[in-house]
Amino acid sequence: MIISIASGKGGTGKTTVATNLALSLNGDVNLLDCDVEEPNAHLFIKPTMDKVEPVTTFIPVIDSEKCNLCRKCTDICRFSALAVAGKTVLVFPEMCHSCEGCIEVCPEGAISASTRELGVLESGHSGNLGFYLGRMRVGEAMSPPLIKKVRTKERERDITIIDAPPGTSCPVIAAMKGTDFVLMVTEPTPFGLHDLKLAVEAVKVLGIPSGLVINRADMGNSGVKDYAAEENIPVLMEIPFDRKIAEAYSRGIPIVEAFPDYADKFRALYAKIEKYSSVEKES
Ligand code: SF4
Ligand code: SF4
Repeated sequence: MIISIASGKGGTGKTTVATNLALSLNGDVNLLDCDVEEPNAHLFIKPTMDKVEPVTTFIPVIDSEKCNLCRKCTDICRFSALAVAGKTVLVFPEMCHSCEGCIEVCPEGAISASTRELGVLESGHSGNLGFYLGRMRVGEAMSPPLIKKVRTKERERDITIIDAPPGTSCPVIAAMKGTDFVLMVTEPTPFGLHDLKLAVEAVKVLGIPSGLVINRADMGNSGVKDYAAEENIPVLMEIPFDRKIAEAYSRGIPIVEAFPDYADKFRALYAKIEKYSSVEKES
């Protein structure tokens, strides 16, 4: 079972749900922090980290001695990562999506492979819980390849929980695609509803079963619940606003540690995820 925890925007409690769900299950679980621009699940999990490995991606290098300036590489590059300037082909590594199309089309064998570092993959554990996080290099803009690298760890255990990046763009798709269930975390406010709608559209395109956790559920208005009912999205858990939960969060203490009775609530959430993911598969 691979569950991606997503939210249309930051600050809705996505990491709170991901970490507390992972800590509650007490089983064969990996937690992957794919919020690679700003990973913070470790602040709550407090893992022992035992490995850091660099993650790199392909970039082309042009041999101007061999290059005949035919422009086949610049024509095929959809990302404007190559340009002919005078008698050289310039490479803009930050724009390169590592598709390797240029190397394929070059008739002169003038393009060879090099790499640029995207960031690091850090591995560790907290008790039984396996923990991995991606951390993007400062100044790097291309997060999907790093997210894909973190996700290579998702089949190691029976259950994988992915803390996805916020938003609805390419990095979130990279963290949701191919998972068994997307759990969307939102808050009952007009902003929460606006961003939830965008997230729901993305999940629909991917065709993945989904459900909702409403955080600070006793604040705001009924817009999120009304929308969930219209769209037939099950509300699997509601977490009320509680000053004590907010205080524990601000000190890096998971809800299930500060309030142990919440572990049963998160286990009940997992049971509902199992139920809804299998219902969707059968239908
Ligand atoms: S690898 Fe792909 S994206 Fe990168 S420069 Fe070559 S064609 Fe462009
Ligand atoms: S395809 Fe090869 S030969 Fe043609 S411009 Fe690009 S690098 Fe030069």
